[in-house]
Amino acid sequence: MSRLTGAGEQQRRAEVIDDQGDTVPLPVIPSAGDPREPSDHRQQPLARASDESRPPFTPILKKVALGVAVCLVAGAGYAGLRQVANAPADPNGSPAHSHPATSATPDQAESGVQRAVAGEAVLQKMTDAVENDNRTEFLDTIDPKAPDFRGSARTIFSNLTTLPISTFQLRYVSDDPGALTPDRQTQLGGTQSWLAQVEVSWQLSGYDVKPARETLPVTFVTRDGTTYAASFSERFAAGQRRPVWALGQVEVAKGKHSLVVSLDSEAEAKSYVSVADKAVDSVSKVWGKNWRQKVIIYLPAKQSQMEGILGAQPNTYTQIAAVTFAELDSPAVGAPVRIVANPKLFEELGKQGRRIVLTHETTHVASTATASPVPLWLAEGFADYVAFTAVPVQDESAAKELFKAVRAGKVPTTLPTPEAFAASATELPQAYESAWLACRLIAEREGQAKLVKFYRAVHASKSSTGLADAFKSVLGMTEAEFVAEWQKYLERLAGA
Ligand SMILES: [Zn+2]
Repeated sequence: MSRLTGAGEQQRRAEVIDDQGDTVPLPVIPSAGDPREPSDHRQQPLARASDESRPPFTPILKKVALGVAVCLVAGAGYAGLRQVANAPADPNGSPAHSHPATSATPDQAESGVQRAVAGEAVLQKMTDAVENDNRTEFLDTIDPKAPDFRGSARTIFSNLTTLPISTFQLRYVSDDPGALTPDRQTQLGGTQSWLAQVEVSWQLSGYDVKPARETLPVTFVTRDGTTYAASFSERFAAGQRRPVWALGQVEVAKGKHSLVVSLDSEAEAKSYVSVADKAVDSVSKVWGKNWRQKVIIYLPAKQSQMEGILGAQPNTYTQIAAVTFAELDSPAVGAPVRIVANPKLFEELGKQGRRIVLTHETTHVASTATASPVPLWLAEGFADYVAFTAVPVQDESAAKELFKAVRAGKVPTTLPTPEAFAASATELPQAYESAWLACRLIAEREGQAKLVKFYRAVHASKSSTGLADAFKSVLGMTEAEFVAEWQKYLERLAGA
């Protein structure tokens, strides 16, 4: 599993996407459809014939068991603002286009300042236009000779007024005069054109306690003495996330506890509100109500949009159902957290599967798993505990791979390690299943309230012995004693 982002920090990547953007595959099994949705006969192309003999629920559960394994914590794979701002704009990293500021001559420095002043003025006008809800002013900042971008800009402005945005800021971070090729500069025309990195901060009113933040590449062009923005999407650097409102027209639906943002349709956004609200209620029943009880769900229309939101390489998420992530460069408590669904797979999960996945992800949101020192087995096991408490499932289905191993005499000797949750881990299902049953054992032995207390104790700990301390103070036992009991529990459940 991925390394910590920094020693002693209360931030780490807690889930199954590592630094390389490696992800957990969903199992290659057919979707038998939700038993309660007999009309849903979609089949997955990768179906295995042997699965047809399984009970109807098994495929969903199997898929969900890994579907829920899919959460990204805290900007994994994102290089961070400074690195992105300084990186060559070409994802292939053409060094010829990189001009570190340290090597700039006085003339170059002066023209850099002039570009920054001109660009900053455009950004200020844009910010004012958004604040004043003035579409004409906003479009006045867009290059009149970039018709495609003018179309995008209309959509972006419309999105910014559709979303409940309370703060919107653009900040000129850096530029690279060599990032645009001579051909591109000729195409743009004007007296000068360049690419700058611009930090955008935006906050969803009623949902975010801190602004979301991305860095956008903005192309500027000066013609007839006026500087305009000519693109928001030129030469994205690897790992550079895109705000959802820059990816296409958004439709928004609000529930009691949820904000659903769809890049597809208003009908789709509305259709997810009740399941999102239910997920929040399910989580609050276990976790308590001492959290914001709000969840934001992004529903991209295309996988490429999901990849844009996460700053992922193309096709990284072909087999991923949903991801929980902090929309900030440096994850911390209070960072704006969103759940983003993979449109195709999420749809294929069926109604019940989606509810399990969203409850699992919402548990991560409630317990601020994006900025928590809890070990992965506890974060994932607890999220599954909450999800499977809300949507009960047969052990035989939900712990299939683990039971198989236990029956074969392979009882786990330790609680799942962080490495066991890595995308490339061969026994990933067992990791999730055994983590879930570890949490369930605590709840059965001590009561659900004690499980929550245990989680909170580890979460709040600032010490490297937080887990051991919580075992002792909350459960009155050592980890080794717990593991021994858990092994017996697994053997009993598996009938081994
Ligand atoms: Zn998870």
